Amino acid sequence: VSALPPLAGLESARLDWRGDDTGESAPLSTQFDDVYFSRHDGRAETEHVFMQANALPQRLAAWTARRPFVIGETGFGTGLNMLCAWACFDAHAPAGARLHLISTERYPLRRDDLSRALAAWPDLAPRAERLVHQWPQPVAGVHRLWLDERVTLDLHFGDAAERLALLEGQVDAWFLDGFAPAKNPEMWRPELFAAMAARSRPGATFATFTCAGVVKRGLAEAGFAWRKVPGFGRKREMLAGEIASPPADMRREQTPWFSSSSARPPRHVAVIGAGIAGASAAAALARRGVEVTLIDRFDRAELGTTHLQGALYVKLAVETNLQSRAYLAGLLHSRRWLEQLDPDRTLWQPSGVLQLALSEKEQVRQARFLANHCLPESVVRGLDAEAASAAAGIRIDTPALDYPDAAWVRPLALCVRLARTPGVSFRLGEVTALQPHDAGWTLALADGECIEADQVVVAAASEAARLTQTAALPLQPVRGQVSQLALPEGAPALGRVVCAGGYVPPPADGVLNFGATFGPGDTDTAEREADHTANLAELERGLPHFAAALREAGADLSPGRLTGRVGVRAASPDKSPYAGPVPDVAAWREDYAVLTKDATRVPAIAGRHHPGLWISAAHGSRGMASAPLCAELIASHICDEPLPLEWPLVDHLHPGRRIVRELIQGK
Ligand code: SAM
Repeated sequence: VSALPPLAGLESARLDWRGDDTGESAPLSTQFDDVYFSRHDGRAETEHVFMQANALPQRLAAWTARRPFVIGETGFGTGLNMLCAWACFDAHAPAGARLHLISTERYPLRRDDLSRALAAWPDLAPRAERLVHQWPQPVAGVHRLWLDERVTLDLHFGDAAERLALLEGQVDAWFLDGFAPAKNPEMWRPELFAAMAARSRPGATFATFTCAGVVKRGLAEAGFAWRKVPGFGRKREMLAGEIASPPADMRREQTPWFSSSSARPPRHVAVIGAGIAGASAAAALARRGVEVTLIDRFDRAELGTTHLQGALYVKLAVETNLQSRAYLAGLLHSRRWLEQLDPDRTLWQPSGVLQLALSEKEQVRQARFLANHCLPESVVRGLDAEAASAAAGIRIDTPALDYPDAAWVRPLALCVRLARTPGVSFRLGEVTALQPHDAGWTLALADGECIEADQVVVAAASEAARLTQTAALPLQPVRGQVSQLALPEGAPALGRVVCAGGYVPPPADGVLNFGATFGPGDTDTAEREADHTANLAELERGLPHFAAALREAGADLSPGRLTGRVGVRAASPDKSPYAGPVPDVAAWREDYAVLTKDATRVPAIAGRHHPGLWISAAHGSRGMASAPLCAELIASHICDEPLPLEWPLVDHLHPGRRIVRELIQGK
């Protein structure tokens, strides 16, 4: 946790709208007493300073690499530079090229300010709309936006130097923006230039409007060569330059097992498991032009209507820990991802989630949580019983945490939709073994056939234990049964997903889903009446007034009248997902054996992984929050792109995280 700044909401930009030199209203920052752009010639300035001085038109026209061209920026502001870079990419780049934009921002604009500021540029309107629509919550961290099929934007909210030090990715061209150094000396500090250098590709360029001495010195000290070039308009000079040989990344000197290099081509990837983890990984890869074969023992498309609902929610720890951060990032990510995947909301509903504090212990926990965190109320807030009742539309007797951004999802329909992403072919079958060879993997199927793939993603929950390469990763199966009740006419509605022990989503299509049971170590998939009884008891405990209203409306709440669905999820010992390259456990035990004797003698050996083998598993009952982000993480790894999480979180999710700890503990 120490490597990450506190988990917090961010102060929004404070703007003043005043006439600029053309008399038109333009945004001015009252925090910095400086303008974001000039209405008169802001576009031309951006073109001159950032596009031309980085030679973007020429470089993008010549971009034929598989990986995306990456632009990094300090100070996203109104996004004008990034939208212009996107337009420049569209105008010049060849058909198969992709663009990845990264920008840091310490004081994000409010959504309506952003919209108003960008209204200054009518020809950018469709692009601005994509940005405004996905504009993230003001929470420190990485927020991934899909600008279009070929263009991704990662907003790293927080201080530029801090965020670039946490970035897992490399940049081809830098836009060094962020108000004049005289007005914002804090940003233009040596740590910023050092972080830029360390996150640069060899030969990465930069451009900036300023010619200030601190900037020249800072860049030079970090290893950039700079030169003065003619500035825009009345500004005589500006700086441009490049870094020939960026410094090595030293962040994993003490944890070399987490560094891995995989340079396999990702032409064809096989994904094993078509649940939410596998289907979202398949879709994430296909979106990047990878040919995907998605394999599962059963075809969810044939299940028909099941009325199943899952909750997109998280339970955050009182004291910030890496797990909570990863889940919160996942929640915010899933919400944006669902919005762009299914804008009509046929697969999900943004209902929000209430987490009830039924016991005194939980009330104390929630109160401490709220006192510890300063997240925006639009992400999580405390409600008393009255406000919780108003939100749920049914009487609730206890206080609760409210996650307005959480949702419920139709998981099966979602998986089917993802499996139909162009570029994904579904293959019914059971993979029994993975055979590595020089160029990739041969997958042996139970029906006797084989599939060849360059790389493989294992997303088969606890069944990963059946494959030799992933068998050593501890995964516990957890049985869960959901109960379903067909509702009579006039049954009460529910305004939120309500979680206490289990969860109760708002009824949909005349069916109430509630559950689920939690049976660690149990893999039996037969429906049990005892589990319905347990789910009913939970319903009565958490929502007694709702249960009474159901009865009043004529619903029969007896276990024998319920139908159910059973799933077997998987959990890791520390309850965080596994998402990343699959460690070669035997090789790790050999390479890091010395740690059993002396934990301080860290060998300088990079982690040996099964080349081109990945896992996304152990999502437990919170897969809606974790799996789509883990899918992006793995797809970004495979396609050599910047990752959508800070490096400490990437390491936290690494499937090998326990191996070294166990060695040190002498296990
Ligand atoms: N590139 C922007 C655009 O295209 O609209 C204009 C950038 S504006 C001149 C400078 C931005 O830098 C502001 O949004 C400001 O909040 C941000 N900023 C200032 N100090 C920062 C810091 N230390 N870290 C990250 N962003 C910072």
